[in-house]
Amino acid sequence: MTTTWVEGAAGSLFDIDNLPYGVFSSSGEQPRVGVRIGDHVLDLAPVAEIGDPASELAAAWRTPSLNAFMAMGAESWRIARRWIIEVLGDEVHRERTQPHLLPLADLTLHLPVEVADYVDFYASEHHASNVGRIFRPDQEPLLPNWRHLPVGYHGRAGTVVASTTPVVRPQGQRKAPTEDSPTFGPSRRLDIEAELGFVVGTGSALGQPVPHDAFADHVFGVVGVNDWSARDIQAWEYVPLGPFLGKSFATSVSHWVTPLEAFDAAWTDLPGQDPTPLPYLGPDRARGLDVDVEVVLNGEVVSRPPYRTMYWSPAQMLAHTTVNGASLRTGDLYASGTISGPEPGQRGSFLELSWGGKEPFGTEVWEGGRTFLEDGDEVRLRYTAPGTGGGRIALGEVVGRVEPARG
Ligand code: MN
Repeated sequence: MTTTWVEGAAGSLFDIDNLPYGVFSSSGEQPRVGVRIGDHVLDLAPVAEIGDPASELAAAWRTPSLNAFMAMGAESWRIARRWIIEVLGDEVHRERTQPHLLPLADLTLHLPVEVADYVDFYASEHHASNVGRIFRPDQEPLLPNWRHLPVGYHGRAGTVVASTTPVVRPQGQRKAPTEDSPTFGPSRRLDIEAELGFVVGTGSALGQPVPHDAFADHVFGVVGVNDWSARDIQAWEYVPLGPFLGKSFATSVSHWVTPLEAFDAAWTDLPGQDPTPLPYLGPDRARGLDVDVEVVLNGEVVSRPPYRTMYWSPAQMLAHTTVNGASLRTGDLYASGTISGPEPGQRGSFLELSWGGKEPFGTEVWEGGRTFLEDGDEVRLRYTAPGTGGGRIALGEVVGRVEPARG
C-alpha cells in the first residue's frame, strides 16, 4: 500500500488505509470537515482549493457537517478518497499540504453528521436470546418473527450526540415486577448497548425500495454507537409499541465516520441464517464486518463483543428499512443493535453481563462487582478491524460519562 509522509502515522491504527472523516474546529473558527491521519487532522477544503479554487468538494468540506459531502454520492466519495491518499502519500504534496495538517490535541471535535432519521435494530442472535431468557424465562427466547426479519424501531435522531457528551441519568416511570404500581424517579438500571452504526450518504425515492445489493451506493460509512438504555423505564413502557423514553434520552456516536472503502479487507461471512430469508433480503450468504469491539468501564475492559457473530447483515437491514417504500435521506443513521457474541465475556450490555442484575460482573476489579451504571461512571467503546494495508484500523471511540439526574 501507499505509505504516508505524515510523521507517526505509518503503522498506527490511523494509517493511510483508514482516513476517517469528521468535523472539527480550532479556537474561534467555524466547524468544518477534516480527515484523520495518525494524530493529525487534515483541513480538507483549503488543500482542495490549491489545485482547484472552484472545487465542489472544497465547498462541501467547508460546511459544519458531512452531509453536503455525503450527498454528492458514491463516485465523489471514491474520487475524494483517492485524492486524499495521493496528497498524504506522495512527498511531492508535502510542502503545500503540511500547513493544513493540524495536531488533533489542539482541536475540538463535533457531531460529524446532521442525523436525519435514526433506526436501531436487534440483529445479534446472542443478544436477542439472552434478553429473551432474562425477561421471559419460561418461553422460547426468540419471538416467531425474529429469524424472518431484522427487528428494529425508529429512534430519536435529535438526541444522537457526539462522543464525550455527558449523559444525564434519565428520570421516568419505573415499576419492578414485584411492585404494584409505578414510581417516578431516576433510572436505577441505566445501561449501555455496544453497537455499530451505518451512515446513509445517498438518499432514495419515496415508494422505491433499495435492494440489498445497492448497499455500497447508499451507505457512506460506519460509526461506533452507544445506545444508552434505562432498563427499568424500558421494561415498564415497551409493551405493546416498543422502546420510547427508555432509549431516547441519548445515543452517543463516534466523532469519526470511517468510510466504507476502508473496510474492503474486513468483510466476512456471518454465521448463517436458517430459515433462508425471503428473497428481498438477498440470495447470498449474509456478509458482515470483522470488527472487534471492547467495552471499557472506568478504564477496565469488561467485554469484547465480536461484530462478525451478528445474524442480520448491514445490507439486509437497509433493504428491510426500505422494502415498504420508505425513502432514505442523507444523514440517516441505522445501528446494529447490541453486539453480543456467544461467550459470556462477549456481551455488549450490562443487562446481559450481570444477567438481569442478578450476577454482578467485574468482581475481581470492583468490591462486590457491578450490575448497572453508577453516577460518575465512564464508558468507552473501542473498535478495530482489519485494514487494507495488512494491519488494523481503528474506528472512532465512543465515550460517555454518567451525570446525576436533574430534577
Ligand atoms: Mn440498541
